[in-house]
Amino acid sequence: MIIDVHAHLNDELLIKNVEDILKECQICNVDKIICSGYDKKSSFMAYDLSNKYKQIYCSLGIHPSSTQDFDDEFINFVKSVSLSPKVVAIGEIGLDYHFPPFDKNKQIKIFVEQLKMAHLLNLPIQIHCRDATGDLIDILKQNKNLLKNGGILHCFSGSFETLHQIKQLGLKISVGGVVTFKNAVNVVELIKKVPLEMITLETDCPYLTPHPFRGKINNPSYIHYTAEKIADLKLIPIKKFYNEVRNNTLQTFPKLKNN
Ligand SMILES: [Zn+2]
Repeated sequence: MIIDVHAHLNDELLIKNVEDILKECQICNVDKIICSGYDKKSSFMAYDLSNKYKQIYCSLGIHPSSTQDFDDEFINFVKSVSLSPKVVAIGEIGLDYHFPPFDKNKQIKIFVEQLKMAHLLNLPIQIHCRDATGDLIDILKQNKNLLKNGGILHCFSGSFETLHQIKQLGLKISVGGVVTFKNAVNVVELIKKVPLEMITLETDCPYLTPHPFRGKINNPSYIHYTAEKIADLKLIPIKKFYNEVRNNTLQTFPKLKNN
């Protein structure tokens, strides 16, 4: 059985079809999905979905592009639900320097605040990083004491050097559909070298749909295309791959062991 550690079933493209998607997931052996928040509203929605559906868990966080949403209402909400068995992580949080204008200092401040929150509430983290690897690694190193609950760098496509640093910090990565793209030369080379114990799987749906459905709306039932590709690249029998990745995932997000 497969776990999708980072999916946006709370996105308007998917939320109307959640029940159909969950049926597809059952057919495709996807038994657990972490629905990740990226702003206040989507975090509330992720929490609601996790309470409504057995297979759905949630991660609550403010993405660097929505820093204005990190307010008392959000903080109080997360604190009030953090002990729920369905709230498994803080995220997605991080840095994104892709679309100017952006306020680096503000992004860093809100990121560190959420690292503190994850530490305080004993939850692992889901990190988003785009065009900000240098700052990200610096901040994680400076705040290593806040990382005791571990977590993932989601949609990882960085360098081998970054991967090494992520490992040193006790974090894992999640790999999405990009690895199946025909032009994904760098990611493919990287994935060949990633230690198996660092890998978890994600869709980041509705985005980054794996080949052969690239261009369509993604959903967690497509995650096996990504898994099969990675197992192939690493020359590991698919059953063994699924077992190892599941162990990594349950180790990283211990609350997924509930039910
Ligand atoms: Zn995401």
